[in-house]
Amino acid sequence: MKPVSPLPVIAIHGGAGTMSRSDLSVEQHAAYHAALQRILRAGQQVLADGGSALDAVSVAVELLEDCPLFNAGHGAVFTHDETHELDAMVMDGATLRAGAVACVSRIRRPVRAARAVMAHSPHVLLVGPGAEVFAEEQGLEMVEPGYFSTDARRQQLQRALGSDTAVLDHDGAAALSFRNAAAAPLDEDRKLGTVGAVALDCHGNLAAATSTGGMTNKRPGRIGDSPVIGAGTYADNRSAAISCTGTGEMFMRTVAAYDICARMVYAGQSLDEAAQAVVMQVLPAIDGRGGLIAVDAQGNLSLPFNTEGMYRGWARVGEAPVTAIYANDAGSAGDLGGSAP
Ligand code: ASP
Repeated sequence: MKPVSPLPVIAIHGGAGTMSRSDLSVEQHAAYHAALQRILRAGQQVLADGGSALDAVSVAVELLEDCPLFNAGHGAVFTHDETHELDAMVMDGATLRAGAVACVSRIRRPVRAARAVMAHSPHVLLVGPGAEVFAEEQGLEMVEPGYFSTDARRQQLQRALGSDTAVLDHDGAAALSFRNAAAAPLDEDRKLGTVGAVALDCHGNLAAATSTGGMTNKRPGRIGDSPVIGAGTYADNRSAAISCTGTGEMFMRTVAAYDICARMVYAGQSLDEAAQAVVMQVLPAIDGRGGLIAVDAQGNLSLPFNTEGMYRGWARVGEAPVTAIYANDAGSAGDLGGSAP
């Protein structure tokens, strides 16, 4: 008898971080859940129509980039010089093809540029003006850098600049005190923002995509883990598709996404065992903070994080999407398909 194929599934994240100390309104929570739901449904529809995991993660991350609630595309954080430098990557688990762009400031949807690098160039990673020229040649939508700016992000930078700390990492940002308590469920100044998606399609193929504005007050020229293959993003049909969010330098130093795949292939660990080990042991050992979303070829999901919350959700074809923010949110330890976090 032919084995039953797992249901196609997509998972997304919108960054991990610290729970806000402010009282949160029902509306604020609702806005984040609604955005996650909307984006999950779009990705789920691609999968339901028989589309590829690659298309599903691309659609989801483009929508996350367009949503100002999240630190990617419109709504990206500022560098120390009050500019935006965006990073993005996409990877196809079926072929191990990958594309990425980094330090770009004029491409409206960096994940599209990453996909174009993968599909239409012999390269994996293009950075800065070279990446922008390539994107323009590919006919992608270009914008003035001001397109990415929002008032909320500008205020966030001002708070970071007002500190004596060289805030080149999230822990530094978290050490600041804030007059404007965040309006979002996760404290925006303590949130490790990035967006990402992973998916399994009806053909059994995996894909992952990640996009980010990086870190508030980062040094111009700094590139994080998101566009670095194996660090913040990885996909291989033989193991898993992974998209990370957190203190990028630590995810790079531990080659976090690839480590999960390697543990599965070399050590026979399950997806959840491998993901938990990396997020709860390997990263904290060097003060790495954040989380990730992961799916394997059997449709198991794992969405661990070592912060107080992570904007996240998942949707299997034919089932209602589930969204969550905090560790104890309804559904967060529920039916993840056998790999509850
Ligand atoms: N990991 C991303 C970076 O280091 C940002 C984040 O997820 O907070 O650029």
